[in-house]
Amino acid sequence: MSPIAHEPEFQQAYEEVVNSLKDSTLFEKQPKYQKVLPIVSVPERIIQFRVTWENDKGEQEVATGYRVQYNSAKGPYKGGLRFHPTVNLSILKFLGFEQIFKNALTGQSLGGGKGGLCVDLKGRSDNEIRRICYSFMRELSRHIGQDTDVPAGDIGVGGREVGFLFGAYKSYKNSWEGVLTGKGLNWGGSLIRPEATGYGLVYYTQAMIDFATKGKESFAGKRVAISGSGNVAQYAALKVIELGGTVVSLSDSKGSVIAQNGITAEQVEAITEAKVQFKTLEQIIGEYSAFSNSQIKYIAGARPWVHVGEVDVALPCATQNEVSGDEAKALVAAGVKFVAEGSNMGCTAEAAHIFEGQRLSAKSASEPAVWYAPGKASNMGGVAVSGLEMAQNSQRMSWSREQVDQELKKIMVNCFNDCLSTAREYTNEDNAEALPSLIKGANLVGFIRVADA
Ligand code: GLU
Repeated sequence: MSPIAHEPEFQQAYEEVVNSLKDSTLFEKQPKYQKVLPIVSVPERIIQFRVTWENDKGEQEVATGYRVQYNSAKGPYKGGLRFHPTVNLSILKFLGFEQIFKNALTGQSLGGGKGGLCVDLKGRSDNEIRRICYSFMRELSRHIGQDTDVPAGDIGVGGREVGFLFGAYKSYKNSWEGVLTGKGLNWGGSLIRPEATGYGLVYYTQAMIDFATKGKESFAGKRVAISGSGNVAQYAALKVIELGGTVVSLSDSKGSVIAQNGITAEQVEAITEAKVQFKTLEQIIGEYSAFSNSQIKYIAGARPWVHVGEVDVALPCATQNEVSGDEAKALVAAGVKFVAEGSNMGCTAEAAHIFEGQRLSAKSASEPAVWYAPGKASNMGGVAVSGLEMAQNSQRMSWSREQVDQELKKIMVNCFNDCLSTAREYTNEDNAEALPSLIKGANLVGFIRVADA
């Protein structure tokens, strides 16, 4: 038996970073960086614990909780908590590993970590969710703190859960501190934090469009396929609509909605309201007046990519490995020019390879190349505003909506420019000047910053 755990998601995330580095001139130009790779790949600490609670039927339930404190070279461990039945150590290690470089890409002083609980919250009452959060925090509170490790939300952990977790921390530790981000506005949260990942994704993609079209095009008039319907997808869709784009799809784990004429802001708002009650898209379309008379098609058991028709932009915003190689080929055939991940590792290695292949075979930035941005760059707006929330908590201040939004925009555009310039500096591909690889750029910038720290 191999002593190495079978961790396919972690392996995939690790190989993506290693391939970007090995495929560049970094180690040739700066051999000292080589020794960092094996060190940064091992988590500084993994905490695994038992979480028990009484469910609404009066029965005792148990689940496994985790916190992977991956790397603190640049600052306190920072990264979300995922409460989902698929949670396991491979997934949390992949997410924690990505988080190290993602957080470095924000330009802030943040280390990387991730945690979670293997549980399905669907169908559980608010009271039961509160008991789960309190039980989870009973153990986690021993290991975190505002200068040590600052968790936030992720899939399954939204404003409600962060609220319960914060209340639990405060009562167990008798300490009010900015130990979690994504908090409510009345108790230390930041404006724009709920919107930040989705808005940031659109700002990053806008920077790609600006660069590729020399400022001639924007989201206006573009057809945009989005997957997912949670926090990231909702705010990405709203920002695309605000900028004049047409959102042609959304999805959940049960199926996809396809709207050739575009999903409206009112429909997205109905989804936001219904999701807190764990309603599926199929139920929402049937029940909410925002959807009556609309020409929306629902496809059960399918992801949107092969069903969207012609598209200019694809934003995977659901979960990891949600675009297969065949789906990537279908998107390319449908005319996609810009792909940016709102989810972490949204594309399979095959899909990323297909998009990168398109880029490599193109000669100029305006040719029918595909611009592909990995999640660690394009979805880092969420954790970036978490960093701004930590800054506000330390100052005991609240910044205005405009201030946070401006800062977020600046961070996303800086990140895009850093990815471009670093890819150009360390790759010798023929078309590196016109069409640098954002995947290589993101991995190089993140890695160099952590290695320097
Ligand atoms: N879970 C989010 C992410 O994947 C946010 C993490 C945070 O704000 O700490 O980046």
